[in-house]
Amino acid sequence: MELETQVRQKSKILANSSVESQVKQTLKKIKLSTPKGVPPHFVPGTRTSNEVPSVRRDINTKGKKEKILVALSGGKDSAVTAFLLKKFGYNIEGLYIDLGISEYSKKCLGAVKKLCEELGIKLHVYDMKKEQGKTMQDVWKKIKKKRLNNCAVCGVFKKWILNKTARKLKADKIATGHNLDDQAQTCLMNVLKGSPKMSFSSGPVTKNISDKKFVPRIKPLFYVFEEDVKKYAIQKKIPFIEGKCKYSQESYRGEVRDFVNTLSEKDKKNILNNFEKIFVKDKKSEENKIKIKYCKICGEPSRKNVCKKCELMK
Ligand SMILES: [Zn+2]
Repeated sequence: MELETQVRQKSKILANSSVESQVKQTLKKIKLSTPKGVPPHFVPGTRTSNEVPSVRRDINTKGKKEKILVALSGGKDSAVTAFLLKKFGYNIEGLYIDLGISEYSKKCLGAVKKLCEELGIKLHVYDMKKEQGKTMQDVWKKIKKKRLNNCAVCGVFKKWILNKTARKLKADKIATGHNLDDQAQTCLMNVLKGSPKMSFSSGPVTKNISDKKFVPRIKPLFYVFEEDVKKYAIQKKIPFIEGKCKYSQESYRGEVRDFVNTLSEKDKKNILNNFEKIFVKDKKSEENKIKIKYCKICGEPSRKNVCKKCELMK
């Protein structure tokens, strides 16, 4: 074998194992009840192998295997998140939110369906038009006067829908595909906008919020670089859609992204790690505990009397 091919193959293997081990470490940090030793095909009550007794013990001590609802967008990040959680034996189901953004939503749904079929997981589709009587495009049109950013508005709706649907489906956790680059951008944007504390609740698992109506969110790719996620998705032939929503107005995030892209991997990691350090130091202060209220209009958990989603729908 030529040296070059050898080196290339070796680096491929390294990229694979680094993404997988990084995600494993993150899940350990999150302290998800690990399904160690649980074969993916394991059905409770069937004693077919020697592994079963230990599996039984596992289930007994942990009560049950947590159900994780993965928010699937059709993009590489959420696809890799679902792929790895399934690979590691977690009990996952997928949720696709059909925002009704014409052809784009249909194309994304196609990729999500293919992914769920390949992984053999259940897919739930939330049809925004059917459930809310409005598509995302209708919402944008309606609030044009408010001069809000399309992506920010969409994000508010997605979070609201995710939490409500996860509760309805009795999921214990919500998993999203945010990667290290996304997080570094968000941290910097929060600093630049003068609200660094907004980053405190966004670690690999949501912190500071515990409420019976709030489903915790986890980010298994929190410590994985975007480029590595993409390489991994391509190597593993995971179905995903490339390209962005044509309505995205990410001008500010785009600028921050361009800046973050000029940084070394070490610097990107430092942004996150240093934020975590501040968070740990500041943990004891009660100020950081987010007081949860319930929205007067929809009853969903909210920081204010009326949640952001209902505020936008007004
Ligand atoms: Zn509300």
